[in-house]
Amino acid sequence: MPEPDAGEVRVRVRACGACRTDLHVAEGELAQLRSPLIPGHQVVGTVDSLGRGATRFGIGDRIGIAWLRSTCGRCRFCLASRENLCERSTYTGWTHDGGYAEYACVPEAFAYALPSMFEDAEATPLLCAGIIGYRALRRSQVPRGGRLGLYGFGSSAHITLQVARHWGCAVYVATREPDRRRLALDLGASWAGAPGDALPAKLDAAIVFAPAGALVPVALRDLDKGGTVALAGIHMTDLPAMAYEPHLFWEKTVQSVTANTREDGEALLAEAAAIPLRPRVTRYRLEEANRALADIKSSTVEASAVLMLD
Ligand SMILES: [Zn+2]
Ligand SMILES: [Zn+2]
Repeated sequence: MPEPDAGEVRVRVRACGACRTDLHVAEGELAQLRSPLIPGHQVVGTVDSLGRGATRFGIGDRIGIAWLRSTCGRCRFCLASRENLCERSTYTGWTHDGGYAEYACVPEAFAYALPSMFEDAEATPLLCAGIIGYRALRRSQVPRGGRLGLYGFGSSAHITLQVARHWGCAVYVATREPDRRRLALDLGASWAGAPGDALPAKLDAAIVFAPAGALVPVALRDLDKGGTVALAGIHMTDLPAMAYEPHLFWEKTVQSVTANTREDGEALLAEAAAIPLRPRVTRYRLEEANRALADIKSSTVEASAVLMLD
């Protein structure tokens, strides 16, 4: 049973989303920073204990815990409203224990109040898949009503597509998985095909969600002049060599996405409630965490996998 430190709250976990990053942590593609470690950074639960000085939430409040667990507040990045690049940041389910558990603690300043319209399971994928996808969407510079390509279509992409549609964008989805193409069309994509298939139009912007560096030149080639490709993943296989033209000339831009700021999180949750977003979730019991991760690895989850407690 973890005890909340000063400024922290403890939640009784109700649901925790499983994310591809949990798989990168479990399989060692991200550095192992502690062991044993409880993964999970899309946590929904109710506050059941307050650490010293914690006043933001009350006992019984439902809150969310996300990937970014703390920042220093003093480094040049924090002071420039770029806390996602903080020199001393910590992370839920990587540097600290996460939500594949009955209880988890979080600094109250990094927790989120959750819109009541979302059930526990539905709210979980908003907390990483949603927030990171939202930051990637902003980093892609796609204009309202523009043409957006999504490469790879899992938990994060299926939420990002809904936000982009709300922005009036036409969305083109490239994924190897036929089931995912059907889901994309169902959610309002204008086109769905395999990576490398000829698109019906040049893209203003693209987001690569799959952790496959080989997709970066594919997305760059599909861009119109002046377009941007955002890379949403925390881990990616090596990028292949690229020709200057047609991949980068014509003022094409490649942008990576590193974690998120709390402002990204608050903005995504507000937008999620306004649209309203409809995450597609597949529920597992906590004891089935390994199966959930294996299903993410083999792309057999429909969209978002969620571990349910009690
Ligand atoms: Zn900092
Ligand atoms: Zn995640």
